[in-house]
Amino acid sequence: MERRVERNTSIESSGIELQSGMPICQTDLPLDWYQKEFKPYAEEYLALPNRQPETVLPWMDSYIEPALKHFGDRLMLLAHYYMGGEIVKLVERYGGSIADSYLLAKQAVMHPDTKLFVESAVHFMAEAIAILKNEDQQVYITNPKAGCTMEMMAKEEHVVPAFEFLQERYGDDLVVVAYMNTSGRLKALAGATGGAVCTSSNAPKILRWVQKQGKKIVFVPDLHLGINTARNVGIPNEQLFQWKGGLEGANYRPEGAALEALDASAMILWGSYCGVHTIFKASQVEYWRERGYGVHVHPESPAEAVMAADGSGSTAYLWKAVMDAPPGSKLAIGTEGHFVSNAREQAQRRGVEVVHLADIPEPGFASFGCGCATMSRNDPPHLVAMLDLLHKGQAPDINQVLVGDAVDESSGYRERLDAASREAIRRDARKALERMNEITEAP
Ligand code: SF4
Repeated sequence: MERRVERNTSIESSGIELQSGMPICQTDLPLDWYQKEFKPYAEEYLALPNRQPETVLPWMDSYIEPALKHFGDRLMLLAHYYMGGEIVKLVERYGGSIADSYLLAKQAVMHPDTKLFVESAVHFMAEAIAILKNEDQQVYITNPKAGCTMEMMAKEEHVVPAFEFLQERYGDDLVVVAYMNTSGRLKALAGATGGAVCTSSNAPKILRWVQKQGKKIVFVPDLHLGINTARNVGIPNEQLFQWKGGLEGANYRPEGAALEALDASAMILWGSYCGVHTIFKASQVEYWRERGYGVHVHPESPAEAVMAADGSGSTAYLWKAVMDAPPGSKLAIGTEGHFVSNAREQAQRRGVEVVHLADIPEPGFASFGCGCATMSRNDPPHLVAMLDLLHKGQAPDINQVLVGDAVDESSGYRERLDAASREAIRRDARKALERMNEITEAP
């Protein structure tokens, strides 16, 4: 269909609280990183004498509390576990909820009486809420420049030309499986091909469902999750075909032996990845295991780390592994750095020691864990500005998330589709999400 562009866990408390005397550990962003409507708030924040809660919270309260009072139960604040610094704690302090991307996506459905969702996370997560929401609900993101780098290497303009080449060759024998970390446009591609969305925990179930149909799988966007899941469902390496990611993927056309391998493959893997998770290695797992640590990693990590670890699973799985660990136990967790810091803080109270898998204090390793930098572009001034501008009825349109928006994360510009094109994307993307639920809930 031709599109017309109009213009440019059950959720539970993390239990982590802001502590008096401990600074708000959110690195200040340069003033020119803020959109123009947010700059006055950023200037005020940057002029505060320090980042102690005693200083920052009264400033935040002066804007946020009137907004929360005004909207009451009609508004819900949301954040992802990977949010940097203290944003997770701040969102919880103002009555918001923290979740992984799958649970975030379901919030509008779970709370039909809530009309306004303000999310501090990355764009695909906010768009997933928008896909499932009702007509009378709205979704806003506190920073429109917050994107997932894995998703940014699998934009529609990258994947669709490659898919069209594959479709010409294999026709209806192809089924697209789209990981949650995709735009609505790619989720819609999955829906239109009879495919489904998957999460890191239900990906094996979704792949088995496609296998039963005897079709060729196109898995987007995460190479490592694809490889790990293929092994889980018994697809041998020889039957995996690795496509390229980003713009290279759009233009890649295999020839000769590569084309033969493509014809023989059962699963085509898009070549995108998450820089935060690709740093993990089997040698890091061995290092901690030798020192008595249990090791759990996220399946966006390379196969060597996943295979060496004691367990692998979603953000919710990793959080549970930490929360269920008996006092005295020691765990090395291979995932996003802010999540591990928050888990460590929580676990310490119960006498559980948590380390980041890549934080190895020996020169031979020279590695360290890192946080999701793009998600951390949501900071206190973004939250304050968003809520105050919503309260004043002056929320910038660029912060509203509609289905099918294609975002340029460097400028925050969003290419927005006309209503009919949006509805077509929403319908197909919803199909893919609903199919995922049907498959995972089937006995
Ligand atoms: S941690 Fe990686 S996969 Fe998750 S949002 Fe950040 S860039 Fe994307």
